[in-house]
Formats: sequence, structure tokens, C-alpha cells
Amino acid sequence: MDQRHKNGLRPRPKIRLGGVVPESAASKGHPAGSRPSVMQAPVLVLNATFEPINVTAVRRALVLLLKGVAQAEETNHTEVHSTKNAIQVPSVIRLLSYRHIPQQSRALSRKNILLRDRNTCQFCTRAFPASELTLDHVMPRSRGGRSSWENLVACCYACNNRKGDRTPEEAGFKLQRRPRPFTLHTSRQLMRLIGNRDEKWRKYLFY
Ligand SMILES: [Zn+2]
Repeated sequence: MDQRHKNGLRPRPKIRLGGVVPESAASKGHPAGSRPSVMQAPVLVLNATFEPINVTAVRRALVLLLKGVAQAEETNHTEVHSTKNAIQVPSVIRLLSYRHIPQQSRALSRKNILLRDRNTCQFCTRAFPASELTLDHVMPRSRGGRSSWENLVACCYACNNRKGDRTPEEAGFKLQRRPRPFTLHTSRQLMRLIGNRDEKWRKYLFY
């Protein structure tokens, strides 16, 4: 693949899709944007080898199809119309040439830790809004614990206070799971969560 396309999911140059509107919005009597969700619906992106690599929005997936970069593997039963064509709205697309996926190393950030831990306190296993979660150093900082993927977990304030400057064992806590860096494996778990409602994704994600 062309080196300039290294991050091959980004179109270059930009293709405008101004003429493409959901069928329902295009027909008379429907105010524009009456079904904005069609273009925002999630689409599973597969590598040329059928390996799931990403989730994108219908709008973005259509760009890849129109550019000939990807082909639709699964569609849902909606059509969108450009000036020339009618296109089935994709549910799963596959890149036509293999894209090397580097070992994903996401930035260590509060947002990504909460995403990895799915906004769930890793001690009491309850889910919270992000604003009600803090980050806990499993091995306390005061005892040499580092700020790393492996030592930071999402934690509610109640558990954080109870744990204090102790290890989980000392505090009588059990970690829901061993914290790991955000990897492609983690991404795939998230894809499964997103795709849980779409039957057509299943065969690509659960194997
Ligand atoms: Zn908790």
C-alpha cells in the first residue's frame, strides 16, 4: 500500500458525500435529518483477512466503498442514494488490501482506563458514570506503585476511600480482572459490546 496511506482508513483527498442522503429523508414529506441515525450507525470494518479491526460510522464506510478501498460483506435493508447510484447501507465492510495493524498502544489516560474498564469499579464491580469514578493505584503510589496500565484501575470513590493506602489483599478487595494495556484484544471486546445487537457482526467477532 502507498506509504502515504499508512493510516489507510483516512480518505485522501476528502470525498464529499453531500448528495448521499438516507432514503427516507430523501422522499417527500420527510424533513431532512428525520433519520440522522442511519449515517451514524456503527459499521464493523474487517481487514482483507476478515480480521475485525475497527468500528466506524455508515457515513465513513460509504466513503471507503465509493473509493473502492473496501467492499460490503453485510448490508442492512436500507438504501442510500447519491446522484448516480443507490447503495445498500453496509453493516460489515472489508478492506480490499491488507492493512498492517501496529501493536496498538493507546495513550495512558483517565478516559482510556475508564473505557478499558467499561466504567466499572474494578473492586465492587458496579458501573458508574465517569464523573463518579476515580483511578486507583492497585499498588499504592506511596509504596512504589507506578502509574501504568497494569497498576491503574477504574474505582468508585467509596471503594477508593476504603482501600486507602493498602493493596487489594490488605483491604480485603478482589480485583475484577487483572489490568492490562489497551490492546487490539481489548478493542475487540469493545467491538463485541457494540456489535451485540447486530446479528450480522457475530460471525466475524465470535470465533
Ligand atoms: Zn467500588
